[in-house]
Amino acid sequence: MTRSALDPNTEHTLILIKPDAYRRGLVGEILARCERKGYVISALSVVEATPDQLEAHYAEHVAKHFYADLARYMMSSPLVAAVITGEQVVAGVRCLTGGTQPTQADPGTIRGDYGRDWGSGTVENVIHASDSPASAEREIAIWFPELVR
Ligand code: UDP
Repeated sequence: MTRSALDPNTEHTLILIKPDAYRRGLVGEILARCERKGYVISALSVVEATPDQLEAHYAEHVAKHFYADLARYMMSSPLVAAVITGEQVVAGVRCLTGGTQPTQADPGTIRGDYGRDWGSGTVENVIHASDSPASAEREIAIWFPELVR
């Protein structure tokens, strides 16, 4: 789906339904959890992430020890990028998402229910969600440049 622009008067966040979730058929489940919470899907795209996109998206992590594994994971198959819209949606979707580590994320959160840790450095935590409105704006421009005026 393509849109000309996002409504500047409402809050938006960026989620990535990561390749493990795409392969496991969890796309509908994850989108449904956002919709059931009352949020709206404003943009949706199946993407094969490029190295450049990932370096921009994970700029704060590029120099870290886990980045090579993270980039490999994020390019292991298509992923789904989506813009989710609603009142305080950034904080709300982070709450639905749960903690970074699948084995420590609360049950009932997306990562707590579906994330997996293979113990070899590869954390398959199913979803990315922007951590602040400023991050959301920056990340939406990476994955949906056509939506940014
Ligand atoms: N990550 C990882 N190992 C780590 C820390 C992070 O593989 O020790 C990956 C994981 O996929 C995580 C992403 O890097 O979701 C970004 O890390 P961040 O600390 O920003 O966590 P998030 O905001 O995604 O919970």
